[in-house]
Amino acid sequence: MNLGLKDKVAVVGGASKGIGKGCAISLAKEGVNIVLCARNEESLKKTAEEIRGIGVEVLTLCVDMSSLNDNNRIVERTLLKFGRIDILVNNSGGPMAGTFFDFKENDWDKAHNSVLKYTMRMISLVTPHMKKNNWGRIINITSLSVKEPAPTLILSNIYRAGITALSKSICKELIKDNITINNICPGAFKTDRAIELMEKVAENENITIEEVEERSIKNLPLGRYQEVDEIGDLAAFISSESARGITGTNIQIDGGISTSLI
Ligand code: NAD
Repeated sequence: MNLGLKDKVAVVGGASKGIGKGCAISLAKEGVNIVLCARNEESLKKTAEEIRGIGVEVLTLCVDMSSLNDNNRIVERTLLKFGRIDILVNNSGGPMAGTFFDFKENDWDKAHNSVLKYTMRMISLVTPHMKKNNWGRIINITSLSVKEPAPTLILSNIYRAGITALSKSICKELIKDNITINNICPGAFKTDRAIELMEKVAENENITIEEVEERSIKNLPLGRYQEVDEIGDLAAFISSESARGITGTNIQIDGGISTSLI
């Protein structure tokens, strides 16, 4: 598909693996140059090589998305190399799983920093540069839990709901400069994060991870976990000119898991 994104520049968080990598690859296939941000140098290098093979330029940054200094560095280095930022995909590791009574003050602070605060900060750092170009796309990877909170993902429920409220609150202002902001809500993608959550269930219920996976798949209307290119292609479409009027939305990609009406 030609989405008219050739030579745009996208900053993608948590991009060496999983959903972030899926977004980076789909955008690169549309000719978007990629700023690949993640913590692990080795997997960053590997993913960067794969994406360069598609034929775009890649800047790798070994950063912690929840660090103020690193967020500033991402913007500075991107502008130094490409001179512009067109697309921002806010994505990083999910917060710890557990119920409300499992967590202490420090856990809340950590989840606030790594989910909501980082997203707020990146949006505030990047939007002045999008405004200069009178064009921008912000995509926040949240979770289906914003539509149907999961009792064992309390930190995810709370802080991603904050991102949902933030996007809705600022979308009217941003669209004046042709900047859209949307949230993608994944259901079940078999990434390292999903495996980690299955391990936690296996441990709690004293069963094997294979049993957890088999049970999960039985409950998935699609009969399988989804692939990260499915979410990547959605991110690429939302970034396109065709999607210029789509803003302030929460788009679920869940193979029919959700039972909510909207
Ligand atoms: P993942 O664990 O497979 O990949 C996360 C990537 O982010 C990795 O590259 C990791 O190195 C990087 N990362 C993690 N914390 C970081 C940090 N502080 N700074 C920089 N990089 C960091 O996870 P995923 O399944 O791809 O999930 C991505 C996001 O989507 C998570 O927030 C997750 O909770 C959410 N989500 C995933 C699913 C799913 O089905 N996989 C469902 C709902 C929500």
